[in-house]
This record gives sequence, C-alpha cells and structure tokens, in this order.
Amino acid sequence: MDGRATAPMRGFRFGGDRTRAAIIAVVAVFIGLYWLNLLHELGKSEAEVVDATRRRASLTAHAAAEAVENTLNRFRITLTTAAIAAAQGPDALRLYGAAMSAADNEAADELVYQLFRVDADGYLAYNSQGGGARNFLGDRDYFRRLAERPDLPLVVSPPVLGRVSQKWNLQVAKAVRVDGKFAGVVAVSVNPDAWTARLGRFEMNEADVLTLFSADGIYLLRTRDTQQSYGRQVASDRPFLQPGSEDTGTYIEPGTRDGVVRVYAWKRLSTGLVIATGLALDDALAPIRAINRQTMERAAGATAVLVLALLAIVAVSRQSDRASRAVAEKEYQQRVTLSAMAEGLAVVQPTGEISFHNHSFARIIPYGDDRLRRNGAGPAWDVVDSDARPLPLERYPGVLCARTGHPLDNVTIGLRVDGGDIRWLNVNARPLLGRDGRPHAAIVTATDTTSQRQAERALKASEERYRTMVESLMEGIMVQGADGAIVACNPAAERILRVERRDLLGRDAADPRWRAIHPDGSEVRPDDHPVMVSLRTGERRDGVVMGLRRDDGGVTWIEVNTAPLGGAGGATPEAVVSSFLDITRRKEFEDELSRSNAELEQFAYAVSHDLREPLRMVASYIQLLERRLGDAATDDIREFVGYAVDGAKRMDRMLVALLEYSRIGRRGLPMDWIDSRQVMEEALLFLSPVIQQTGAQVRVDGDWPRLYASPDELERLFQNLLGNALKYHDDGVTPQIRVSCARDGGVWRFAFADNGIGIAPDQIGRLFKVFQRLHGNNRYEGSGVGLALCRRIVQRHDGRIWVESDGPGAGSTFLFTLPAQSPPAETSA
Ligand code: ADP
Repeated sequence: MDGRATAPMRGFRFGGDRTRAAIIAVVAVFIGLYWLNLLHELGKSEAEVVDATRRRASLTAHAAAEAVENTLNRFRITLTTAAIAAAQGPDALRLYGAAMSAADNEAADELVYQLFRVDADGYLAYNSQGGGARNFLGDRDYFRRLAERPDLPLVVSPPVLGRVSQKWNLQVAKAVRVDGKFAGVVAVSVNPDAWTARLGRFEMNEADVLTLFSADGIYLLRTRDTQQSYGRQVASDRPFLQPGSEDTGTYIEPGTRDGVVRVYAWKRLSTGLVIATGLALDDALAPIRAINRQTMERAAGATAVLVLALLAIVAVSRQSDRASRAVAEKEYQQRVTLSAMAEGLAVVQPTGEISFHNHSFARIIPYGDDRLRRNGAGPAWDVVDSDARPLPLERYPGVLCARTGHPLDNVTIGLRVDGGDIRWLNVNARPLLGRDGRPHAAIVTATDTTSQRQAERALKASEERYRTMVESLMEGIMVQGADGAIVACNPAAERILRVERRDLLGRDAADPRWRAIHPDGSEVRPDDHPVMVSLRTGERRDGVVMGLRRDDGGVTWIEVNTAPLGGAGGATPEAVVSSFLDITRRKEFEDELSRSNAELEQFAYAVSHDLREPLRMVASYIQLLERRLGDAATDDIREFVGYAVDGAKRMDRMLVALLEYSRIGRRGLPMDWIDSRQVMEEALLFLSPVIQQTGAQVRVDGDWPRLYASPDELERLFQNLLGNALKYHDDGVTPQIRVSCARDGGVWRFAFADNGIGIAPDQIGRLFKVFQRLHGNNRYEGSGVGLALCRRIVQRHDGRIWVESDGPGAGSTFLFTLPAQSPPAETSA
C-alpha cells in the first residue's frame, strides 16, 4: 500500500454520531409510541368508567323515578278519593279527612302535613288540621292550572315557605269536579324536606345529587342545598328541557347550582315531572385515576431509567468514539505528513520487497508501480554505487539495513533509468526491530540528488577551467583572506615575486620580507598596501604601482589591481583577489624615457635660451651695418636688411615660444585645488583688450568645477584657446565664442566653440605639433607653438585634447577633458 492519505473512516460502529442519532431516534419513537398507547389506554379506561357512571346514574334515576312515582300514586289515590268525597259535600270530605288522619297512613305520617280543599272561588274550604282562616288560595299556581285544566291527573307545585307556619311545603293537588265541571281543588301539603330525605336513601356519594324537576325545569326536590334550591330554575340548556327530548337520557355538565361536573341521567315521569341523578365525575373517576396515575408513574419511571441508560451508553460510546477518533486523526496526520514529505520514505523487507512507500518515494524512484514495489525481489532495479558500478541486491542500503540491523547514513546510490541516464539518490536507512530485538525491516529515506550532483560536476568542471586559466596567466593572482594573509596564488605570482608558493601562503601585508616601496622610493606601510585598503574600504584599487626590493639589490616593479570578494552592501569583504603584472622592464623604459625627455627639454631650453643671444647679435649688427651705410645704402640693401631683421625677430619669437614650451612642468606654480571658473575669468580679463578691439561676444556657461591643477598652466591653456578663437576670423566677422564646461562620466569636458574660419579635416592631425601652422604670418601672426603647449598642459593633467570642425568657414570647437576628482572637504584642507 502506498501513503495515499484519506480522511479517517466514520463507519457503522455504535460509535459515530450518525449511528448514535439513529439509535436515539428509534428509542425516542419507541417511547413515544409506548406513551401514546398508554395514554390511549388510560383515556379508554376513563371513558369506560364514565360509561359505567352513566349507567349507574341511569339506574339510580330509574330507581328514584320508581320511588317518586309510587309516592305520587299514593297521593293520587288519596286525592282521587278526597275529590270524590268533596264532590259529595263537605261532610263527606271531613269524614274522609278524619279517616285519613286516623288511618295509619304512611304517607300522611311522614310526608303530609294536611289535606285541604279550596272551593271553586279559590277560598280555603276545608283543612284536615282544622280551623284556619278563610284564606284565599285562588292565586296559587296549582289552583290556576287545575281551574284551567281540571282533567289533569295531578299537579305538583313548587315548594313554598308557609306564610303562617314558616315551614316549607309543596302542594299536590287535584281538581274536584261536580257533574264534569270544575268545583275547586283538593290538595295535600307535603313536607319537601321529608320527601327529599326519602330520596336520599338511594345510595349516593357526597357530591352526587338527586333532583325532582317540574316539567318546566323548576327544582321541586333536591338532595343537596335542599332548601336553597326550592322553586329555582335549572339551566335552560339541559337536554331534558329541550322540546321533543327523550324521556330518558344522560349528559355531562357542570351543575347549575354548584358547578360540580357530573354525569347526569334523567327520567321523565308520567306526570311530566323529571327525576334526575347527578354523579360527580371526579368522584367517579377518582379510583381509576388513582390507578392510572400509578400506571403513569411506573411508566415514567421506566422511561426515565431507559433514557438515562441510553444517555449513559451514548456518553460512554462518545468518549470511546472520541478516543478512537483521536487515534484515527493522529494516524491521518501521520499519513498526510508522510505523503507531504519531500523526502521519499519506504519500508523495505529483508527480501527487498517494499511494503510501504509515500508519494515522494514513487516520484523519486523512476520505476513503475510494480517494479517499484518489488525493489530487488523480482525484475531487479538497476542500482549502481556512487562510482556507477552495478550494486547487487544484498548491498542495497535498505536490504542491508533490514538484514543486519545496522543504520546507514548518506549513502549515494544511482538508479539507471531506461534511457541509460542515472538518477542519483542520497539514502538513509534505519532498522525496524521486533520484540526480540532482531531486525525485520528497514525504513529508508531517499532524496533525489541528481541535479545537485550535476551542479557539483558542472561547478567542478568550471573550477577546473578557471584553475587552468589562472595557472596559465601571465598575470600574478593571489587571494588574501579577511586578515590579509595569502590563501591562494598562481604560478605567475611565484614567478613574478620570486617566492615559492609554500613561502607565500600565510604571508600578510605586514610581513617584513616584502620590503615594498612607492615609485618615489618611500616605504609602503602595511596599511597603504592596496590589498589592505580594499579589505578596509570594500572598494577596488586599480593600477597601483609598487616596487619590491629584492635580495640581489634590485627592485621588482609591479602594477597591482585589487578586487574585494563578498563585500556587497557595505559588508566587510571576506577576501581580496589581487592581480599584478611585472612592470619592471616597462618602468625601466619609462624612467629612461623621462630621463631622456628631461635631457631633451633641458637641451631645448638651453638651445632656445642660448641661441637668442647670438641671434640678437646678428640682428643688431645688421641694423648697425645699415646705419653705417647711411645714404650709400641702396633701396635693395635696405629691403634685404629689412628681411634679415624681420627673420631674426621671427626666430626670436620662435625661440621664446620654444622656451616657454620646454618650461611647462618645470617652472611655475605647483598643483593645487583651484576654481576653474575663476581661472577662466582671469583669462578673459587678460584678453579683454582684444575682445574690445574685435567686438567679440564671449559666452561662458555650464558647471565649472574645482580642479587639482597648476593654476598658471591652466590659465595659459584657457588663454591660448580663447586667443585662437578670437584670432582666426575673416575680416569683418565679429567673433562669437561660447565656452562651456560639463561633467561627462569620470571627466570634466571643456569646449571652446567659435564661428571662425574653421579647419579642413585633413589638417586636423597637424595642429597640436610644435611649429605647425596652417596660415602664413602675413595673414595671422603666430609661432605655431600655442596648441602644442595646450596639449602638453592637458596631458600633464591626465587629460585629452582634440578639435572638431565641419571644415573651412564652419567654425571650430576645441575640446579637452580633465579627470574629475572630488576635492577634499574644506575643513580638512
Ligand atoms: P599660432 O596660433 O601661433 O599659429 P597655434 O599652435 O596656436 O599657433 O595654432 C596652430 C595653427 O592652428 C594655427 O596656425 C591656425 O592655423 C590653426 N588654428 C588654431 N586655432 C584655430 C582656430 N580657432 N580656428 C582656426 N584655425 C585655428
């Protein structure tokens, strides 16, 4: 397998958020269903109890109705008999009343207060209790109803509080008819409390109620709040009050009087009265509710236990999941690290087989997948050692390490690619040891060093080339370290310095064996040595001439260039390379030359100086001769004398000019820092008479520097060039001269441009030589030394002079350069 990195697997273990969520969901659904079912069952059991309560209420209502019917029947019999007696006359009634009182009449005993008769006019006509005022009862409810409908079998009126007796009583009345006509009423006064007490015999709970209503819903009897209920109206929405309602039925409502929810059952009696039982719902449901509550509590307990157990399992599994995820994460990071490693990594078996490798390994090893894994075990890899000799499998670093258990470091091997090229690898191997401490495989890391090796080779080759080149140079080359000691030199250096390499290496500038001198013969102090200057300043030194005293008494002159190494950006150089040429011969020639030049100059000076004397004598004696001849002299003689004198004068001027020329550099002021513009001003002042005379216009512009120069030589230079520019003009042409100066790289460039007669190109080469003139003296006076003098001055100041002109009539520009050096700071001057 290779090191391809994949994210850690999230499989179907109990661990894993998804699995856990699924399990929680299933358990939640299960619990939900269980509770739904439970609540449904509980609801059903309550509904069954309600049904049973309805049935019980109905039964009670029926039983109570039976009892009330019975009582009413007794009243009917009594009243029917009393009505017959009343129809027969008062005596008959009285007789009956007495009989009724005397008879052991159950009804009369407990319930009935009295029997009484009201005549057709509404006045009390008889009272079984005897006596009583002739009361008017015609306004009574029962009376009015029976007067209207005498055929009603019985009328029960709501309980009223007796006006005299202050007792509650209700009247049960029947019409008396004589010959079919209404003839008053017979009625019994009934004790409603007693009647109610009778009804109370039906077994009832405290909150249950039994009620007798009139047909229109007025409380006649009620087992609870008995007296407060008498004569009041029940809520009009009760089902039994609705038109066309059944004679029996049940309903559940809050009580009209007390608001207690009850299961009511009603039964309508033959007289239209309605008996209703109400069983308190809460009481009825209390037992089943208690049972249900217990059931719910048990179920809730079980659910809680189940949920807690589930949570505990989830927590435990999450923890173990986190732990296993951390392991997977770590493994993943390791895989990513391995695959991201630039270094190739592989596990190599002692057989050479590769059991694991990362991406980089596959990239570095130039073989396909199959061959890659087999390593040596199969179609072998084409492995070579660092000298490109074939390497057998048992000596592959990985195999060797896996077999012997010895680690290997920085082993260079090569793999021959199909094209024949070799890919070079740097390999390390570490053994993998088993529990028994014996190696069973090796971990191999490999880096591709092919390009590095190629670069090294190329570097080596180029080094070789440079070495050969340096070795074969005529120039001496030395490398000096930061301390100034020589660390390398070429054969030419040994030859020029006449010191062997082993004596040179390690020497520094302060070594007393050097005995170095400046060209003027003074000693070179170690700090002035160009190598030390370069080391100190980090700058190159070029063309420094030094002499080295030899043991044989002679001096070897060298010209030295130095270049610092690695001192970029102001850093101190790590080394200095110096190259030097043996210029002893050249120096000797130069010395010889300057010596002969000096002699020549001396000669020219002496000649020009000494020749003036005899020349003056020639000229004066010729003039003396002319004077002596006096008038005897012919015109011819005078003309000849004139020529001779003129020639002598010209020759004298030439000698003066020559003298001047030979004096350059020998006399005059020494070099110093001077303001060139100032010098120019002085030249202008000197020539101001000519300028005025010719009406010339002279313009001076540009930057004028301070220069290290001889002040009077520089003034001569300016005067000559300006003087020529003023002189070489055709008649009638006003000279227009522009003098300028500008920086041009490492030099200052001066230009004197005029609008004069110009110079033919083929003549330009001659101008700067002594006595070379382009014009005869008859036209422009001159000695022909001026420009030669200019050249000599410019050269003495390390400059160059030349002229540019587009030909005769086109004007000329004389140009020269002087080296630009930075003047020393004013304070240190
Ligand atoms: P001189 O002026 O004494 O003849 P120079 O050495 O100064 O000698 O000049 C040499 C010759 O160069 C001059 O004779 C003249 O012909 C030519 N020459 C010098 N300056 C100019 C100039 N500005 N324009 C044209 N010709 C010039």
